[in-house]
Amino acid sequence: MRPLSDRVGTFTDSVIRRMTRISNKYGAINLSQGFPDLDPPKPMLGALAKAAYEGPHQYSITYGAQNLREKLAEKFNRVSGLNVDPDTQVIVTCGGTEAMMCAMMTVCNPGDRVMVFSPFYENYGADAILSGAEPVYIPLVPPEYEFDLSLIEQGFKEGAKAIIICNPSNPCGKVFTREELMAIGRLAVRYDAYVITDEVYEHMVYAPSVHTVMAGLPGMAERTVTCSSLSKTFSITGWRLGYLIGSEQVIEAAKKVHDFLTVGAPAPLQEAAVAGLSFGEDYYRELNILYTEKRNYFLAGLDRIGLKHNAPQGTYFVLIDISDFLALEQFKGYTDLEFCEWLIREIGVAAVPGSSFFREPVNDLIRLHFARGREVLDEALNRLSKLDQLLK
Ligand code: GLN
Repeated sequence: MRPLSDRVGTFTDSVIRRMTRISNKYGAINLSQGFPDLDPPKPMLGALAKAAYEGPHQYSITYGAQNLREKLAEKFNRVSGLNVDPDTQVIVTCGGTEAMMCAMMTVCNPGDRVMVFSPFYENYGADAILSGAEPVYIPLVPPEYEFDLSLIEQGFKEGAKAIIICNPSNPCGKVFTREELMAIGRLAVRYDAYVITDEVYEHMVYAPSVHTVMAGLPGMAERTVTCSSLSKTFSITGWRLGYLIGSEQVIEAAKKVHDFLTVGAPAPLQEAAVAGLSFGEDYYRELNILYTEKRNYFLAGLDRIGLKHNAPQGTYFVLIDISDFLALEQFKGYTDLEFCEWLIREIGVAAVPGSSFFREPVNDLIRLHFARGREVLDEALNRLSKLDQLLK
């Protein structure tokens, strides 16, 4: 047989999602792929049941059901101070994943450079390959995951057409400050570039950090393509509902890409999602309190065990430093992936190897998530506490 496309040879399957499969195989506690075990809010389930009996069961308008787009625009306008039009500036997608792919395919020609912070959510690598873009990596330097603005300017000077900003940032938990975003925004204006944001963790931001909507900053509405999702906000990762918001010009083009990629997101699930988007501010406040508690609880547990970790300002991820373990004779020559496989088999907890997020050769970090109930987190911490013995 003739070989398949070159492009499929240039990236692997998702390591994040592969870790879930390995975790399932060994019956480990899965803190790798980041999805919550909370139930979706009851009113959404009621609306879903109603939709099951009463429909809609056929295609919605390809770029999203009217009522859902109206709710999304309303929510976005509330937080951004903008006045986006639900008909011409919003597309409902199959998850944030499609939103990002659609944004990249809309903005980029093959060969266009796109800046990506490293560490980065692994999808961006594949998104770049599939859209033909060439990623240019800008390091986020630990422990604070700061970046050097002059490298971004350099990237734009050398012709980068866009920059991807995941805010809050998966996997390092960085929340970009307003000043940082303004500085990047000024460069994007100066060099006439696009900013593609991934804001799926927008409600998992821990005080004193606050989430700033890039599109709402001066001069940014026309050049920002905002990607987000309902997955994390309503604990419905399996519903595959995301969205894209941008200028009329961008969205008009993106509608075509979306139409031919997927036709549309599932109609009954869109209908049910409207119930969630009808919640008031209380819902988001309580969600934030819940995740703040989870974060503090889990990080305190890691501290008790003596595992070194970062302090995420947002998201539900934490990076654990495993360098002390890799220095032990037992793990000599181990990659972080091999360590994660060992962790699943011997400790019963699944993590994602940090190397799948970094451009740089980083081998001593693993990512855990804490979007789980108290008992699960307790059991995970209990299992992880066995690690402590190894260092004694
Ligand atoms: N964003 C989640 C993570 O990093 C997973 C999302 C997905 O698998 N589509 O784990």
